[in-house]
Amino acid sequence: MFRLLLAIAIVLSPQAGDGPYDLEFVEVRDGIWMGYRPDPYRPPVHGNVTIIVNDEDVVVVDAGSSPRAARHIIAKIRELTDRPVSTLINTHGHEDHVLGNQVFVEVYPEMEIVARVGTRDYLESGRVQRRVRAFSRNMRDQQEAGEREAARVSRRGLNGDALVAEHLMHYYQQDIYAVRNEYRGVRITPPTRIFEGRMVLERGDRTIELLDLGFGKAGSDIVVYLPNERLVIAGDIVTHPVPYGFSRLQTAWLDTLWRLVELDFDDLIPGHGEELLDKDYVEQIIDLVEFEIRSVSASIRAGRDATSTAWDITFREWAQRFVGNDPIGLYYFNEWFIKPAVERAYAELTGRN
Ligand SMILES: [Zn+2]
Repeated sequence: MFRLLLAIAIVLSPQAGDGPYDLEFVEVRDGIWMGYRPDPYRPPVHGNVTIIVNDEDVVVVDAGSSPRAARHIIAKIRELTDRPVSTLINTHGHEDHVLGNQVFVEVYPEMEIVARVGTRDYLESGRVQRRVRAFSRNMRDQQEAGEREAARVSRRGLNGDALVAEHLMHYYQQDIYAVRNEYRGVRITPPTRIFEGRMVLERGDRTIELLDLGFGKAGSDIVVYLPNERLVIAGDIVTHPVPYGFSRLQTAWLDTLWRLVELDFDDLIPGHGEELLDKDYVEQIIDLVEFEIRSVSASIRAGRDATSTAWDITFREWAQRFVGNDPIGLYYFNEWFIKPAVERAYAELTGRN
């Protein structure tokens, strides 16, 4: 028994600090906590988590981006309640939302991990495990690529370039080692229960709906909706301050955003970001994606190739609306929204995706 308690104590004793896996928590509704890693621009990105404390159990949305992050989440749960986690929902299969799964299973072996079929297939395919294993083998390559990118940024001649370069090098010279240390211990842990369409968890007065609103970022995304609390947990369909433009199907992502904004809610927990958001923010993303798709279509009609299309479209005002004049924000608006979104929209609209 003592050994078991000691094992649990070790599993649950993250050291507080300023590491890339240290989370903060804010109560957004009675018994509902949003966990986020401060500074959403800091690499490696970290998916938000939601802790929902019910009368008899705890439901968690997303598992953190590493075992260490999951230990932080579980330590927070233990601080709030001694009720067990019965259900962990993976909004999608990307690393920064699922690499904590294994720690939840260690601590709560009875627990179900719920996701959609695509998430299970992706995690069982071995691709994520291979990528995580490969990480420590190509550290030097990654660091050299990072140095080249920092040098490129320094040569651009934009305001704040030095800040952006310094921000990048902080990762490649320091935080990359924290990632390596975490990834060495990762065992990909796929979901145990899958659903398609809609699944409802009734917990006393609380209704937790798991919805498939369509193709989002990963293609097997779950939106979690709590109608009584008028709260939505959106996964990476909605991120802040920079929307992630990585969806392979930009037009389908736009349709999904429309369905999302039609839900009856006041507040939204994004997949990334420090703030609780509202419908206005989702509508702002809808406007942006509509502009992007319209502009890419026009460029294709004018016979432009993919590279010229990327140069043709001016996103300056949109970038300012989302990130203001923050040079790091502007850098990521380009890297996480403009580049991938335009490239994917071009491929989709020309039938080459
Ligand atoms: Zn994410």
